[in-house]
Amino acid sequence: MVDPTLQSLFDEVVARNPGEDEFHQAVREVLDSLTPVAGKHPEYASVIQRLCEPERQIIFRVPWVDDSNTVRINRGFRVEFNSALGPYKGGLRFHPSVYLGIVKFLGFEQIFKNALTGLPIGGGKGGSDFDPKGCSEGEVMRFCQSYMTELYRHIGEYTDVPAGDIGVGGREVGYLFGQYKRITNRYESGVFTGKGMAWGGSQVRTEATGFGTVFFVEEMLKASGQSFDGRRVVVSGAGNVAVHAIEKVHQLGGTVVACSDSSGYVVDEEGIDLGLLRQVKEVERGRMADYVERRGQGAHLVSDGSIWDVPCDVALPCATQNELDERAASALVHNGCLVVAEGANMPTTPAALAVLREAGVRFGPGKAANAGGVATSALEMQQNASRDSWSFEYTENRLGEIMRGIHDRCLETADEYGMPDDYVAGANIAGFTHVADAMLAFGVI
Ligand code: NDP
Repeated sequence: MVDPTLQSLFDEVVARNPGEDEFHQAVREVLDSLTPVAGKHPEYASVIQRLCEPERQIIFRVPWVDDSNTVRINRGFRVEFNSALGPYKGGLRFHPSVYLGIVKFLGFEQIFKNALTGLPIGGGKGGSDFDPKGCSEGEVMRFCQSYMTELYRHIGEYTDVPAGDIGVGGREVGYLFGQYKRITNRYESGVFTGKGMAWGGSQVRTEATGFGTVFFVEEMLKASGQSFDGRRVVVSGAGNVAVHAIEKVHQLGGTVVACSDSSGYVVDEEGIDLGLLRQVKEVERGRMADYVERRGQGAHLVSDGSIWDVPCDVALPCATQNELDERAASALVHNGCLVVAEGANMPTTPAALAVLREAGVRFGPGKAANAGGVATSALEMQQNASRDSWSFEYTENRLGEIMRGIHDRCLETADEYGMPDDYVAGANIAGFTHVADAMLAFGVI
């Protein structure tokens, strides 16, 4: 890091949070971008230090009973990172890889992402090392109820508003919200987002992260005089973000030729059959092999390779953190990829980002590119607060406007600090200054 004050701040973060590699990586990326800000605005130094320390970290036991009557114990987390701009806001992740370092990296990123949307939401994140894969409906329900039996005392419409993330979709949100309602005896719709349409959800929330990522890329392409029309696109993942990214790319005239899950990736030169993919993944909770088997000729499965070897114009990592490494970035560059944008949180390693930058590939960081999900969550909160419900078309237009606003804010800020076209610097600096100004106004709290 060029700035010695920022370097010593980073060293302190590493020393105070040992073993939390993903959190260190997320902090480092932001601090790297803040060098020109620190030079221009020394008053921000103490804010940066405070920002790296969560306001509150909650870790709790989640006991539940499985179908064979065995008592199981998982660990629950909620990190309430920063509430300068509004209630803590960020999803819950249920995945065996979850530990404090993952939740902190996600919560830290969420602060800047939420600030970038321009909406009144702070940053937080939570989850558990629970693995829903292979669990029965009853087991998932009992786990969610036990998780909420502790979490309910920490959340609220004006305090902390969770949503979904990996492993937490509509089904889990239903069980979690149902238990919150039961314990508190309050129909407090604004305490959770990603709810079902019948009970306080918003149109477009399910689609928002994937759609928003594609809207963001559309702006990136426009900025260099291009469009999605006729483009080959590769999307990793086959979950909520990936499926809706695929849908929007196809609507805009591109063709998604590959997608994946943790069992491998499928190449389908005709374009991924979205109806079949959703049937296999969302209804049957099956694997990519099931898609290939049903799709027949033309599609094939690769179970031990990298999806980034598939030639494409646009690459959208939409699965998980650090899934696109240096070798993958080199393959994308070699195959002439024009744009990479992160539907997932931190899917690109720092070494991969360096390769893409060096080659002049336009890069949209997750903080900006995938902010459509949380932005639409904030729209869901607005609808809940006013007991209103907006149409799909109106909500999608709002999402489009928000994504265009984020895109322009990134570019304008990057320009202002002398780093034209650097979306990473633009997103980090614009998000940071927005939060930092509020924190300065509040004094030392
Ligand atoms: P889902 O659980 O719906 O889907 C995740 C997908 O990624 C699944 O297909 C999963 O495959 C795949 N995956 C997970 N881990 C790996 C791995 N190690 N290798 C290959 N594939 C993997 O989650 P979401 O779509 O909601 O989230 C995806 C990413 O987007 C995450 O980084 C999340 O933080 C981020 N995000 C999500 C938002 C949202 O609104 N949902 C908002 C903003 C960001 P399998 O089923 O086999 O595990």
